[in-house]
Amino acid sequence: MEFGDGLDQANVFARRALELMQAHAVPPTPKNFTIWYAYAGEKFPDLRKAVDEAIERNDGFTPAVNAALFERFFSDSDEGLAVQETGRRIEDRLSGLLKMLGVASEEVDGFEASLKNGLGAMAGSDGLNGIKAAVQQLVLETQKMQSSNRVLQEQLETSSSEIASLRQNLEEVQREAMTDALTGIANRKMFDAVLRRAALEADETGQPLCLALTDIDHFKQFNDTYGHQTGDQVLKLVARIMQDNVKGRDLAARYGGEEFGVILPQTDIGDAETVCEQIRTSVAGKRIRSRQTGEEMGAITLSLGIAQFRQGEPLSELIHRADECLYHAKRSGRNVTIAEAALDAVAAD
Ligand code: GH3
Ligand code: MG
Ligand code: MG
Repeated sequence: MEFGDGLDQANVFARRALELMQAHAVPPTPKNFTIWYAYAGEKFPDLRKAVDEAIERNDGFTPAVNAALFERFFSDSDEGLAVQETGRRIEDRLSGLLKMLGVASEEVDGFEASLKNGLGAMAGSDGLNGIKAAVQQLVLETQKMQSSNRVLQEQLETSSSEIASLRQNLEEVQREAMTDALTGIANRKMFDAVLRRAALEADETGQPLCLALTDIDHFKQFNDTYGHQTGDQVLKLVARIMQDNVKGRDLAARYGGEEFGVILPQTDIGDAETVCEQIRTSVAGKRIRSRQTGEEMGAITLSLGIAQFRQGEPLSELIHRADECLYHAKRSGRNVTIAEAALDAVAAD
């Protein structure tokens, strides 16, 4: 949540927040202060509503109530709030539209009644003047109807273009929430969601599903030698290579610091190994050179472990097996791919 208030205003909000907290017996912790500062600032209608409701319930601001408020509005960062706010604005627009349509339909009813009256008046009139007056009245009513139709049309167009832009806004926020900020590929949240969906599908269809986990070799040493920023450039490079080597329904994601995951639906372990070997050799084949000094930093290598999903198993088990393969790849000298079939063979020996 961005406050962005000027210093004077921030002082006013802060003082008001503290007064309110005292009035409602809210302990002055940093988290509670964050909630009440936002409340005092009057800029976040959803938060104000939630706090007002809590005041009205009169159950007191217990630690649970305070924690729930913080969790709801601040824990998962701005994006949660942006999604809520956009959702609320879309709701407002839609209810505005529905109201307009209600008014329009009343107007149509009114118009129909005037037509009937006019026709009745014509039928009942015995002279030309009576008919003239009735026709004039009908022309008037028709013009009124036309102009209110025009207004409605314009309002509908404005509202629907506002809704379209709000929806686009929402999609952008959701995309950002699923993207790793440094590398621009999918983040852990996206990885978890896609893996869950892929496993459900594999359970349903019986198609194979593979998971590869990979970790950069001796990356700490690389960072220590060339600096963290150069390390970040390497992470970006590795992410790009992974992305370039997966396609269609596959997903490459940054799983943790210098670890990546690849989800390969409808792929058996042999094909998964081919994909991983392409990634591995492609990374190992790059010569890393410093942008500033032109200094040659040698090669970066990856170790990879692959496991195949077993119908009905919990995902933690699949991840655990891929991780074990990765561990063996490290143990067997790094810069290598180990698939679980190979691991089974080792165990059998
Ligand atoms: P191994 O071959 O056994 O994986 O050795 P390693 O040095 O890569 O493993 P270790 O887990 O000891 O170190 C991981 C390093 O990755 C430590 C940390 O400095 C680096 N790292 C993690 N996240 C980031 C990041 O976002 N940027 C940079 N530059 N480095 C990172
Ligand atoms: Mg690691
Ligand atoms: Mg490592």
